[in-house]
Amino acid sequence: NKRVKIKELLEKDFIDQDVTVMGWVRTKRSNKNVSFIALNDGSSITNYQIVADPNSISEESLKRATTGACLKVKGRVVTSQGAGQQSELVAELVEILGDADPEKYPLQPKKHSLEFLREIAHLRIRTNTFGAVFRVRHALAFAVHKYFNEKGFFYIHTPIITASDAEGAGETFKVTTLDLKNLPLNEEGKIDFGSDFFERETNLTVSGQLEGELAAMGLAEIYTFGPTFRAENSNTTRHLAEFWMIEPEMAFYDAEDNQNLAEDFLKYIISYALENCKDDLEFLDKRAAEEENTKKADQRSELGLLERLRFVVDNDFQRLTYTEAIDILKNSNHNKKKKFQYLIEEWGVDLQSEHERYLVEKHFKKPVILMDYPKGIKAFYMRQNEDGKTVAAMDILFPGIGEIVGGSQREERLEILTNRMQEMAIPTEEMWWYLDTRRFGTTPHSGFGLGFERMVQFVTGMGNIRDVIAFPRTPGHAEF
Ligand code: ATP
Ligand code: MG
Ligand code: MG
Ligand code: MG
Repeated sequence: NKRVKIKELLEKDFIDQDVTVMGWVRTKRSNKNVSFIALNDGSSITNYQIVADPNSISEESLKRATTGACLKVKGRVVTSQGAGQQSELVAELVEILGDADPEKYPLQPKKHSLEFLREIAHLRIRTNTFGAVFRVRHALAFAVHKYFNEKGFFYIHTPIITASDAEGAGETFKVTTLDLKNLPLNEEGKIDFGSDFFERETNLTVSGQLEGELAAMGLAEIYTFGPTFRAENSNTTRHLAEFWMIEPEMAFYDAEDNQNLAEDFLKYIISYALENCKDDLEFLDKRAAEEENTKKADQRSELGLLERLRFVVDNDFQRLTYTEAIDILKNSNHNKKKKFQYLIEEWGVDLQSEHERYLVEKHFKKPVILMDYPKGIKAFYMRQNEDGKTVAAMDILFPGIGEIVGGSQREERLEILTNRMQEMAIPTEEMWWYLDTRRFGTTPHSGFGLGFERMVQFVTGMGNIRDVIAFPRTPGHAEF
């Protein structure tokens, strides 16, 4: 009989049928008459109960079925006697596929700290928490494609190695073929970079936006969903050196169309997870509640994880301008009592995540779409507003996260764009290909970037971004 997944055993009626399951032992309880093995095969948060009678199963197999060992179990599905699960498997044959020496296996059936689990990222996928996180991550990624496909958007793959640094602002990783321990020197004794990417200086992409714009000026509505790289040399709970970004780009959309699309899209993928990951999210909801309880009362979030997700899906996002936000922040008691680390004193400064989170968590208590930022703190390609001071930018801020989306209406007017690039010392000749889209058949267009891991953080309630990507890339972590 062929392998049946635990998810199927839970969802369909297999009573009195003979099946084979394979998976990893989470726990084993034994007494003289019977052994209970909780088995997990990755398909579900549920650890399925295997009942083994020592009279029919070899003592050797039962002894080796320790936490972490991989088993193949043949047996009959019966109605469960105990509370909890509907059914369980009465084993007729237990085969050990792989032992896990209890003296050496790092994951024991107790609660491990997330810090500890980060050090064993190659094994943490076998825990309930990380199983749930990565199943939810998968569902969100699937929902992204489903949403855009239903809307008629085309999925575009933008390059990972590129000579353009978008708006990298010094955060780019260089691509090189040089042996860094054995650098070739030129006649003047300086490093000869000639052999970089076939004699071109290149870096890993920080965003697929510019190429996305090129594609949108032909296919009209496109999106990218790929890895992006930033040499963020800081240890925050919101930044990775390698993260995945979803970047839709749409011809004929103005700033408001862009905001509407972003709000609809974010709600759609969260709803998809709520509908399709019920068991995992219930588990994560309890986990998040336990974590909240370890915090000081005034730092606890008012809503539980599931309540927070439903709240975001069911309510309109708050829309306001940067100028309005600065007024709120400047006049807040929080600012007056000098409780912000960075006090807001004047218009024109960039917001820090403490300000973003104040607006969302304390002031409006809902997601915020913040628009019309001062042009001095935003990228060259954002469309300039009539006031001459601001650009048609939008950031979307989420509770517990801060900035989750950054986007804008793009500057489609050739002359204004060229002038702005010159003001910002961006070489217009090198970017002739970008300017061509404004030279030939230009049109208003807009787009945004969603940091995928920040969304997974929001939906799973995980406090640290390192815990929502299987193998995080951060300073000091590059092997697994
Ligand atoms: P932040 O202000 O948080 O550093 P940003 O403004 O530099 O973000 P953008 O260039 O606007 O980021 O990128 C678009 C989105 O990508 C952000 O809104 C965020 O969700 C995500 N993002 C940016 N940097 C990182 C990072 N280092 N790790 C994970 N996600 C990131
Ligand atoms: Mg940044
Ligand atoms: Mg930002
Ligand atoms: Mg941004």
